[in-house]
Amino acid sequence: MKIAIAGSGALGSRFGYMLYEAGNDVILIDKWKEHIDSIRENGLIVQDGNNRKIVNIPIFYPHEVAEEVDLVFVFTKSMGLQDMLEDIKPILGENTSVISLLNGIGHEDILKEYLPVKNIFMGVTIYTSGLKGSGHVIFEGSGTIEIQNFTPGDREEKKALQLVGMLNQAGFKAYYSEDVKYSIWRKACVNGAMNAICALLDCNLAEFVSTNQAEMIIRHIAKEFVKVAKEKGTILDEDDIVEYILQSSRKVGSHYPSMHQDLIQNHRLTEVDFLNGAVARMSKELSFETPYNTLITQLIHAKEQIIMDE
Ligand code: NAD
Repeated sequence: MKIAIAGSGALGSRFGYMLYEAGNDVILIDKWKEHIDSIRENGLIVQDGNNRKIVNIPIFYPHEVAEEVDLVFVFTKSMGLQDMLEDIKPILGENTSVISLLNGIGHEDILKEYLPVKNIFMGVTIYTSGLKGSGHVIFEGSGTIEIQNFTPGDREEKKALQLVGMLNQAGFKAYYSEDVKYSIWRKACVNGAMNAICALLDCNLAEFVSTNQAEMIIRHIAKEFVKVAKEKGTILDEDDIVEYILQSSRKVGSHYPSMHQDLIQNHRLTEVDFLNGAVARMSKELSFETPYNTLITQLIHAKEQIIMDE
């Protein structure tokens, strides 16, 4: 199977490497010059605990790829998805499947512009990885992947099961999801309640949940996620999510969420428009207000401007 990894940063490199090592025909796609130069000259450096390996995986700029592939994993940040799909149009054939495991909500609306809905597969992963620099990926523990076809149908479900099988064969723990939309919304709600606040307060998860205000803030944000999700056909349990966020954040302690890493540590734009911003946008379309998520989105964009202008 010919597979393209569209966005080969931290998570894309991990998926690309594992699928390549399992014998699939894999190409990486990215637009980060130093990363591409480094992988072309020295191979991709893969670090998993104390194990270090160098692998020669082909990597291309989007404009260099033209041949249709069977499967595309999209692994840009959410706000880079549209540009990436625009750039890789030539490799998206009539039967090319695309899997999105991106954090946040609303990616399917972008994917639908570029391929038939029957070819869209959505999922959630809790695998994590980081980059030590260009061309050097670090695996961070294990995880799981759940995947489901975006549209119902026997053919689509069979395809999703095949993709699950392929991922398991490559060493991932993957399974077929009976309700991936629920999992996507739930993860987005958890991220939406914590990530932006930790970035705005410049603190880690444990520091935020130890404050007297945390539970109230988390509940305000989660309540709005739950309301919008319900209107979109997904039922989330507010109490269950708030309790999960409080417990898990105390447990993982000193972890700085990805929005803190992006904005505060690396001075990069954030995925807020696909988390709190998506809830704000969708509620507006549904003719009601979500003031907490709207304000958080505005604050993060203001912080992005301050940091980028520095
Ligand atoms: P990343 O920034 O490390 O990688 C994204 C890559 O996409 C970069 O190398 C960038 O150069 C490339 N890119 C972006 N736009 C492009 C374009 N138009 N053309 C070509 N290349 C482009 O991000 P990441 O951490 O790998 O995250 C990817 C997605 O996975 C995000 O939605 C993130 O929330 C999600 N996610 C990440 C992790 C993790 O541990 N890193 C875990 C779970 C989910």
